Amino acid sequence: MKVKCDYCDSYVDVEENENCPNCGGPLSKAIAAEKDRINEEKIKEEEKAETLRQQQREEKNQDDVFDLIKTIAGSAAGAAIAGTVAKSAGKAIAEFIKKDIKDSFK
Ligand SMILES: [Zn+2]
Repeated sequence: MKVKCDYCDSYVDVEENENCPNCGGPLSKAIAAEKDRINEEKIKEEEKAETLRQQQREEKNQDDVFDLIKTIAGSAAGAAIAGTVAKSAGKAIAEFIKKDIKDSFK
């Protein structure tokens, strides 16, 4: 890991140097700052990955609804309806349809 020396502004490798090889200044503050930055980056990456997973779950959920509709209709017309729903229905509507279909089969 490379950090910038606060004293002489040179970039030094802290795996090897606790003090700046150019000016002898202590690097502990720069190391702490770099570690914070890396941590924050990691957290942001994890949040991004979680958002992506959430989107995939929602997409899969919608796919399940359309599969269900197609299975029940069991026809080309059913598939067409499912396609129309896919284009126009929001998540809430898709959820409602799913629940409605399940209830009617109880
Ligand atoms: Zn230095």
